[in-house]
Amino acid sequence: MENIAHIKSLTCSRCENSFNPDQIQTYCRDCNAPLLTNYDLVSIKNQLDRDRICHRKKGMWRWMELLPVNDAQNIVSLGEGDTPLLRLNHVGQEIRTANLFLKDEALNPTGSFKARGLSAAVSKAREFGINQIVLPSAGNAGAALAAYAAQAGMDALIYMPASSPLSNIVESRIMGATVELIDGLIDQAGRLAERKSAEEGWFNMSTFKEPYRVEGKKIMGYEIAESFNWKLPDVILYPTGGGTGLVAMWKAFKELRALGWLETKKLPRMISVQAEGCAPIVKAIQAGRSACDPWENAQTIATGLCVPKSFADQLILKDIRESKGTAVSVSDNDITHWQQRLAQREGIFACPEGAATIAGLDKLIKQGSILQDETIVLFNTGSGLKYISS
Ligand SMILES: *Cc1c(COP(=O)(O)O)cnc(C)c1O
Ligand SMILES: [Zn+2]
Repeated sequence: MENIAHIKSLTCSRCENSFNPDQIQTYCRDCNAPLLTNYDLVSIKNQLDRDRICHRKKGMWRWMELLPVNDAQNIVSLGEGDTPLLRLNHVGQEIRTANLFLKDEALNPTGSFKARGLSAAVSKAREFGINQIVLPSAGNAGAALAAYAAQAGMDALIYMPASSPLSNIVESRIMGATVELIDGLIDQAGRLAERKSAEEGWFNMSTFKEPYRVEGKKIMGYEIAESFNWKLPDVILYPTGGGTGLVAMWKAFKELRALGWLETKKLPRMISVQAEGCAPIVKAIQAGRSACDPWENAQTIATGLCVPKSFADQLILKDIRESKGTAVSVSDNDITHWQQRLAQREGIFACPEGAATIAGLDKLIKQGSILQDETIVLFNTGSGLKYISS
């Protein structure tokens, strides 16, 4: 057995109490807050250098020392990670910015970046002998769970709002998952998953209610650092629903700094982009608050952003402020406009959530809070093809 684990502990993101990483963990019940994974970065630093990772076979798991699995045999992988970082010259010119890049997560298995988190969490679940997993999902996470659970031979149950893109429902079902469509939104689906977990013992893989999806998504931050030769961009715009990717990348940058692998001291400003019809993070940032109120009557074509209150709201707000970032909301009309411009000018058919980051950038450039010569990375979190039925 090849032991690759360097996990030191899990800590609550609020009270900082420690939790045993050798047992199945969920979240801190005292604080109702997520747990984060700490690695023994000193021993990783001594045993490994960044160039060795660069020369490994492509994919998320080439960073396995910084991922939560102990025994490499438990890794469940479908080729996730190492997505392209594309330069957007034409759209950049339209927005009047010279150094604009897009990390295109649509190329992941099941067509969205959810693959990264579910690859990590399902792998760790396999290590713990878990074989029944429940998940509330607006679509893409469900499809990703279905795929990794299929490969791992586990049962998957997904509660999806009936308004989720049809592609995700079909994709989840063909991979053998049970999909229960519900009338409410993702928060309602979340309550059903909690109940299934409490009453029947299914493992709940809901966003931030277990510690490891964030670890998979973290590798987006490592890949960005590598792509920029261990310097980092000035600004990252991230379409925020549950906020996993934003928290994850901020964690990655701090780990990279602790590992001594960065050629810069300056970390990027993390900017959360939300839809006008569901913008709890934007509202809390503008009001100077440290927690979000649940957004009422949430509605947007960007279904991944339709999260009325993230379980990690306080952590997201803390990380945005620590990075000197901000949050911006955009209309569904602006999203559609930039989805079309990106397709016509760059040949990229982004999901609405991805297009939202261009709309947000356009707004912030006009407001002067992002400068025209700054190096900017946008995230296209999934493929537009998954939304053509909606
Ligand atoms: C889930 C999802 C998001 C939001 O991701 P978080 O990391 O949970 O904020 C954005 N875009 C797409 C396409 C998604 O599926
Ligand atoms: Zn706590």
